This record gives sequence, structure tokens and C-alpha cells, in this order.
Amino acid sequence: MIQAIDTTKLTLMLNELRLPTIKQMWPSFAERADKEGWPAARFLATIAEHEIADRDRRRRERHLAEAKLLPGKTLDTFDFDAVPMISKAQVMAICAGDGWLGNGANLILFGPPGGGKSHLSSAIGLALIENGWRVLFARTSDLVQKLQVARRELALENAINRLDRFDLLILDDLAYVAKDQAETSVLFELISAIYERRSLLITANQPFGDWNKVFPDPAMTLAAVDRLVHHATIFEMNVESYRRRTAIDRKQHGPGRPAKSATPKNTAMSLSDNQPAT
Ligand code: ADP
Ligand code: MG
Repeated sequence: MIQAIDTTKLTLMLNELRLPTIKQMWPSFAERADKEGWPAARFLATIAEHEIADRDRRRRERHLAEAKLLPGKTLDTFDFDAVPMISKAQVMAICAGDGWLGNGANLILFGPPGGGKSHLSSAIGLALIENGWRVLFARTSDLVQKLQVARRELALENAINRLDRFDLLILDDLAYVAKDQAETSVLFELISAIYERRSLLITANQPFGDWNKVFPDPAMTLAAVDRLVHHATIFEMNVESYRRRTAIDRKQHGPGRPAKSATPKNTAMSLSDNQPAT
């Protein structure tokens, strides 16, 4: 005989154990198990699997929300043909995260405006999240401003420590940061704090030689560059602006032909179907 169970109490227990998926799914699975005569172990394993799969999904959703990536900028919509100096295979390897995240290695993307640095870095961030890593995408000037506020409130260390939860910080447009003593020294402090512990992905319009404009003095620039390049992969994206190219394309081929599109085809967190847009 089936022993009656107190379902209200069971619900409370599942709440306390923080098993929302099991709480929601167990009645229908229990019914099926009873009807089909499942062994108890199969029932338990089935609902446990669902809980884990859901937990994974919720975790990724949280990571995606906190990452503040650029919407619609995915690897699917990135045209690798436009940047022949970048190997898609190497980018895909980077997107696995193993071997560089966790070792404090960095990735640096150089190139003129419009060359796809922000797009590619956000897309790499998305793929890394899909693979279980935690990422934050920030315009460098915004992050510097936040850290500066924290410093004024004597909470800079705290603010930098809070960034520790991310495996990768993407600092977009590093060289755009205005030269201001207090401002850029927080950037230096951030770089020093995460050196060899966490990874950075930096994009910049200007090569290192011009970074004297970024940091307060040459010694600090040298020290910052030194830390950044110590374990770094550097991509030179010396291509013409993608926007300009597509505009010229449109002109030459008439308005009927869709230009090499930068609109999202697929915003799902998927690494499959990475054919470049045509
Ligand atoms: P950057 O950050 O180097 O200035 P962006 O990444 O902002 O350049 O690129 C400018 C625009 O062109 C964006 O809308 C971006 O999506 C698009 N774009 C640039 N390069 C590519 C590419 N290789 N494939 C698809 N879209 C691209
Ligand atoms: Mg950019």
C-alpha cells in the first residue's frame, strides 16, 4: 500500500533544500513513475538531473545578465573574412577559456575604430559565458569612473575585490580614457591588483607607444604595459572600418543586395553554426 505523504510538508522541505525544479516537477514524475512502475532509484535520478540542468541554466542566465555584453554581437554575426589576420580557429580555442582564464593571461585587440574590436570581444565574452565562465564587459571610461567614485568613498579596494568574481574583465577602448591623474591611476591599481590572478581582454585604438596618454606618467605606463603583455595574446585588427566597407558594398551592389550585415542573426548563446555572415 502506498503510504500517504504530507505534500505540504514536502513542499516546505524542498523549499528549505532550495530545490525549486524538483518541487515543481516531482508530482508529474511521481505519477508517471507509479504508473510505469519505475524503480525508486530511477525516479530519484530523473528529478535530480532536472534540478541540476535547471540550476545550470539559471546560473548562465545570471552570468549573462551581470556581464553587460553588447546586444546582438555574437560570433555567428562576426564576419571573419573581414579580418583575415585573425584565425577563427584560434578565436574558437580562446572561447573555450581553458589554458588562459584562471592563469591570469590576457588578450589584447588593437585596431582602428570600426574594425570590429568591440564586437569580437563581446562575442568572445558571450561564448565564454556559454562555456561556464564569468565575464564583465565594460567601457574602460565607465569602469574608471566607478572606481574613482569608490576611491573617493575610500572603498576602492572593495570595489576591485568585487570584480574578483569575474574570470575575465573586458576593458573596451582603453586608450579612450582621458588623461587625468586620479582617474587613470585607479586603472593602474586595477591592472596591478588582478595581475597574474585574473584575465583581461583589452581593446585599444592606439598601440602601446601611445599609451602615455592613458596613464599619469611614463613609469606607470611602462609598468602597466609590462603587466598586461607578460602573458598576452595580441591581435592586430588593422582593417578598414567595417561600417565603411559595408556602406561601400551597398553603394556598389545597389540597395537590393543586403550588405554584409551586422544585425544579429542569432542572439542565442550558441557556439554552433559559426559560419561567417555573408
Ligand atoms: P571597434 O570596436 O573596433 O571600433 P566595432 O566592433 O564597434 O568596432 O564595429 C563597428 C560596427 O561594425 C559594429 O556594428 C560591428 O558589429 C560591425 N562589425 C565590425 N567588424 C565586423 C565583422 N568582422 N563582422 C560583422 N560585423 C562587424
Ligand atoms: Mg569599440
